[in-house]
Amino acid sequence: MQLANYHTHTTFSDGLEAPENYVLEALNQKMVACGFSDHAPILFDPSRPYVFMSPGQLSAYLSEIERLKTAYSGRIQIWKGLEVDYVPEVISVDSEHIRKAGLDYTVGAIHFVDYYQSGRPWYFAGSARGFAKGMEQIFNNDIRSCVRRYFSLVREMVQLHPPDIVAHLDLIKKMNRGGRYFSEQALWYQEEVVKTLEAIAQAGLILEVNTQSYYKHGAEEPYPSRWVLSLANEWGIPMHLASDAHRPEEITAGFQYGMEMLYGLGVPALRVFEDGRWIDQPLELPFTVLRGLGEKRHG
Ligand SMILES: [Zn+2]
Ligand SMILES: [Zn+2]
Repeated sequence: MQLANYHTHTTFSDGLEAPENYVLEALNQKMVACGFSDHAPILFDPSRPYVFMSPGQLSAYLSEIERLKTAYSGRIQIWKGLEVDYVPEVISVDSEHIRKAGLDYTVGAIHFVDYYQSGRPWYFAGSARGFAKGMEQIFNNDIRSCVRRYFSLVREMVQLHPPDIVAHLDLIKKMNRGGRYFSEQALWYQEEVVKTLEAIAQAGLILEVNTQSYYKHGAEEPYPSRWVLSLANEWGIPMHLASDAHRPEEITAGFQYGMEMLYGLGVPALRVFEDGRWIDQPLELPFTVLRGLGEKRHG
């Protein structure tokens, strides 16, 4: 099994190091590919600053990844992507600055759900406090309408502005540790997830298996949870393993755990980007993750 990760953040958005340091770590871990997916610039309102990065930083990012492609050519495959939010009327993978970026692939995500009364967008994935505040002020503490709104946005993205990869499908559970807000067993919750998986299957998109919850937040489940992955596998939805690295040491973090879990669920292959196209690579034993972070809790 060859190692690759396509979900990586650098100092161009909210990651901690320059892109080249991730390439060096990828070489160190004998990886075959390293894909960059910094957060794309979002302009919610011309009177507010850009979120994540400015258009100037975007062009610097794109040139830096191009430079690395050339500099490390023949040693490792380097790919130029972006994690692109979907916010109705604000941004999607079809926005002009995204289409013009000449990307190898896009990772689509929902991190913002609606707005506070002040007009400020609600970034629900930041802190437990921020989650509680948005839940109260925007959704009147009605967790069902909040969760339903989140998944309806994911479906809208999938149907209207499909990315190549759907990132962390059930990120809305991030602040739900210990079932604080809802149970994943609840019928209404499972219905939302199932409808969303159906939309992904219909659109033929890749479902990301994101290990960040596991190695960074000590959660038992990845994004999405195992029961969701099991269903996705039954339906033949292609999957893709990603660490959502924000520093070089995280480039394969949780991969040993992720691969063993997917193997256990009977997932036959992982979709990887090779020579400029997506192909299926059989998921085989043994897995050898060198210096893998976040594996110590496992076994
Ligand atoms: Zn994300
Ligand atoms: Zn990310």
